[in-house]
Amino acid sequence: MAGDGPREAGRMVQRQLQSRGITDRRVIAAMSQVPRHRFAAAASRSGCYGDHPVAIGFRQTMSQPFMVGLMTELLSLTGGERVLEVGTGSGYQTAILAELAGHVWSIEIIPALQDRAKRVLADLGYANIDFRTGDGALGWRDEAPFDRILVAAASAAVPSPLVEQLADGGVMLIPIGAEDGYQVMTTIRRCGGATRTVRGVDCRFVPLRTPSAAAGAAGGEPG
Ligand code: SAH
Repeated sequence: MAGDGPREAGRMVQRQLQSRGITDRRVIAAMSQVPRHRFAAAASRSGCYGDHPVAIGFRQTMSQPFMVGLMTELLSLTGGERVLEVGTGSGYQTAILAELAGHVWSIEIIPALQDRAKRVLADLGYANIDFRTGDGALGWRDEAPFDRILVAAASAAVPSPLVEQLADGGVMLIPIGAEDGYQVMTTIRRCGGATRTVRGVDCRFVPLRTPSAAAGAAGGEPG
């Protein structure tokens, strides 16, 4: 467990997660310990424990604490799971997953974001994460199947490679809906050849990009 979690993290968990019904003790412990400020861009560090997403450069954001807590709770991690994360971004959610699962494979389409997240996570001592730069909609075929898949970017439809790479009994979380509005946090459970889909809360995520759109974004303002 990364040890230098500040007091703000504890307050954030009480005020933004527990007060809104997050009860998973392991999620609460992890989010109280992981130093969220280490994942924020320098300019956004002071407000990074607030109740909102945080800019991380390249027109991307670190997800709102409540959304990280909710998604992680919905994954029901017990400690040994193989988890695929699509959209490393700041690496903050990656750290929470690495605390609570067995191993995390994390894909990010913007190389500079992946590099920064990788450095911070290595500094904090995480050794159970593998990284790949590329289009996460394709999944990570060599490492499949995954017990859990967490997609942190919005898509109009579920990318079929991700369903194929979900283990029997596995769970995927993905924001589904129009890119320019709200989406619905959707849970997809695989049972043999079938899937069961449950629609959850409204949410708002940056779009799951194609490689050419991501090249445009990466050409935008840096971190
Ligand atoms: N959980 C992250 C969320 C970052 S926002 C955090 O809290 O920091 C979503 C991320 O998904 C962005 O970094 C964006 O660049 C990335 N992304 C968008 N499309 C992608 C794709 N096709 N494959 C992999 N990553 C993608």
